[in-house]
Amino acid sequence: MSTDVKIEPFRGLWDAETFPLVIAGPCSAESEEQMLRTAHQLATIPEVKVFRAGLWKPRTRPGAFEGVGEKGFEWLKRVKKETGLKTTVEVAKPEHAALALRNGVDILWLGARTVVNPFDVQEIAEAVRGTGIPIMVKNPIIPDLKLWVGAIERIYAAGIHSIMAIHRGFHYFEKSPFRNAPMWEIPIELKRLIPELPIIVDPSHICGRRDLLQGISQKALDLEMDGLMIETHENPDKAFTDAAQQLSPAALKQLLGRLVLRKKTGNPDFEHQLESLRTEIDKLDGELLQILARRLALTDEIGEYKRDNNITILQMKRWAGIINDRLSIGMHLGLDEFFLKKLLSLLHHESIQRQTDILNKKR
Ligand code: PEP
Ligand code: MN
Repeated sequence: MSTDVKIEPFRGLWDAETFPLVIAGPCSAESEEQMLRTAHQLATIPEVKVFRAGLWKPRTRPGAFEGVGEKGFEWLKRVKKETGLKTTVEVAKPEHAALALRNGVDILWLGARTVVNPFDVQEIAEAVRGTGIPIMVKNPIIPDLKLWVGAIERIYAAGIHSIMAIHRGFHYFEKSPFRNAPMWEIPIELKRLIPELPIIVDPSHICGRRDLLQGISQKALDLEMDGLMIETHENPDKAFTDAAQQLSPAALKQLLGRLVLRKKTGNPDFEHQLESLRTEIDKLDGELLQILARRLALTDEIGEYKRDNNITILQMKRWAGIINDRLSIGMHLGLDEFFLKKLLSLLHHESIQRQTDILNKKR
């Protein structure tokens, strides 16, 4: 996949050399007092540059708090006037975008549920066409990089060149401590595709609970992500939405203070040592690929043999035996069980696919 998107830097919003961009504020705008109290406390934290609040809340089932809507803009204007923080809201409909533009919101963001739907993204893109308003695009709920890139391209094609991505994790069926699995390989691939696109990590929606926020925030910085969006509420336990994951401004200050900022490059000695370790890795990867190719050539041979003797492809007993055996060897070598299961299942899937092709004479 490739893309023609050419992002323009967000000039003046934050100094990337000093600290990643920090966006904070409540999940939902609830009242003028809640917004102003939270914002004034946040404004005492120098790293916080942008105040977020949801005015329209996408809720899974009807009947829950669905946001204060339009009246929240007056509160946001006071926040901006009294604290100097820039403001951002989620826009899920073209009408939301038009209202946000009319009310002087500095940055808009598209939510994870909007980004799954190209029709919605396109309608919002039309509503902002030519305005130059900066836009942040969250990843879609499902782990589909193309959908994320597609949304960025639609916004870009509407003449918006100040775009950031927000990584908020992905829906995932396996058991995990996270509300949304981070699947870091996806934002990393996005960065490879569009290197100048800032990626803001939203640890709040990845974690779903306060105690995991520090670790995920640190991981974001260690992976050279460009900023953090962390839900912050003056009284988190009483929040109307996402109470378990919101921090108080004081707790946010503590979290930011504990983050370790690492350099992106080191001195020549370090670079030299790193280069030699990387050369070693390149060599091993080459060997790994050759071994994989040899293994698949062998399973192809078995496939042909089964076909010629009219034997079924999937032989459960043999497969169960392989899993047990390889898991025990791998774990003995210090490899993670979950990683091994994923790797083995990928290999098995590929062998079955190739043997099916052989059976159907496609290979
Ligand atoms: C939010 O930021 O409050 C929100 C609704 O997030 P997401 O779109 O990532 O679920
Ligand atoms: Mn939320």
